[in-house]
Amino acid sequence: MDQVSRVVIAGAGIGGLCVALALAKQGVQVVVCEQAASLGEVGAGLQISPNALKVLRQLGLEAELSGLAFVPQYAAIRDYKSGEYYLKSSLGEQAEVRYGAPYWHLHRADLHQVLAAACAKAGVELVLNAVVTGYRENTELNQVCLLLEDGGEFSADLLIGADGIRSKVREQMLGQECPNYMGQVAWRGVIPVSDLIVNIKPDACVWAGPGRHFVSYYLRGGDYVNFVAVEERSDWQSESWREEGDVEELKRAFANWHPEVSELIKSASSTFLWALNGRNELPTWHEGRVVLLGDACHPMLPFMAQGAAMAIEDAFVLAKYLSRHTLSDALLKYEQVRKPRATKIQQMSKANAGLYHMHGGVLGKMKLKALQAAGRFVPDVIQSKLDVVYGYDVTKD
Ligand SMILES: Cc1cc2nc3c(=O)[nH]c(=O)nc-3n(C[C@H](O)[C@H](O)[C@H](O)COP(=O)(O)OP(=O)(O)OC[C@H]3O[C@@H](n4cnc5c(N)ncnc54)[C@H](O)[C@@H]3O)c2cc1C
Repeated sequence: MDQVSRVVIAGAGIGGLCVALALAKQGVQVVVCEQAASLGEVGAGLQISPNALKVLRQLGLEAELSGLAFVPQYAAIRDYKSGEYYLKSSLGEQAEVRYGAPYWHLHRADLHQVLAAACAKAGVELVLNAVVTGYRENTELNQVCLLLEDGGEFSADLLIGADGIRSKVREQMLGQECPNYMGQVAWRGVIPVSDLIVNIKPDACVWAGPGRHFVSYYLRGGDYVNFVAVEERSDWQSESWREEGDVEELKRAFANWHPEVSELIKSASSTFLWALNGRNELPTWHEGRVVLLGDACHPMLPFMAQGAAMAIEDAFVLAKYLSRHTLSDALLKYEQVRKPRATKIQQMSKANAGLYHMHGGVLGKMKLKALQAAGRFVPDVIQSKLDVVYGYDVTKD
């Protein structure tokens, strides 16, 4: 298979737009088909760690995004009741020095908007109201054809399935299989700081408690606070995987937590409730002229805040290999490099659920105490775990 000159992408999420931009900058003709009637992202925050920021920097977006970011000073894990710190690891300037790029908090809509504008400028064609149903490979013409619900078709040298956890492209490639409900739900919300009745520290903070955890951090230069409240639930009754949440239920679930949490929640006027889903490692990420990227191939629990970061890394690596190798070699190398990394981060995210939710009662608390002791006496051990994630640089050979 030769090199590609025209690519069609299913899904204009963060992963789809990133790969569209990276390819368009290499002179590839790109069409993105998005099911939504208008472009946008959910009203929630995103932690963008240095490994992802190195890619956004290479794509020329750092300067514009910096004006929209908030720079947290510490990554913290605190006790749900006492507020005691189990972990306090420097971010801010120290993260930039250690990892070669800053650690930021961004509003998802801001990142998405900047990406979409850059794509438009780079000549990416975006087709809205374009619901992807599948694809057809034409081996004689060396083409793949993306199929839309309304009968529309787009032919290209390569199809990238960046259509999220319920990917239709993945479904055709690997068969129909529902994502696994991970036994947890997440309430998400964004609160203007002017509505707050409590002072929140400028950290990326995880509050760990039995069967639940709570994450809070600032957005948009400190004008908003984002929260994610996670609770273990044995089943998810609703058909939908995202619905409006009940603020009163959220308040009750975290009522006796540390005042920084319970008072923060009191300021929330609305919230969305998400079922957290995952997938087992896929047997392959590509077939013929079709390849998967982001949540379409490696959805994960958000407990390392790395799902979007992995989609961003995928995008850069895929575009890089496509510019250097024949199509079949590029797809092979892409999977060889990305699958072990994404799978490792998936596993780390899952392991954090046990830590944040104090699984095992007293034992769970002891694990957090051990983390606290390690942070004091052998901080390099803790740091080296994060180095693997944040120090990684896909933009370097
Ligand atoms: C509570 C929570 C908190 C999180 N926090 C973080 C964080 O702090 N940092 C981080 O890095 N990650 C975080 N994540 C993970 C992150 O949100 C996802 O991993 C990321 O959005 C995946 O991007 P994607 O482009 O692969 O998929 P998506 O964002 O799901 O985008 C897929 C796109 O494809 C479109 N689409 C779907 N089906 C079709 C179709 N049939 N036809 C056409 N278009 C279609 C969708 O409309 C969408 O636009 C979090 C996730 C959750 C649930």
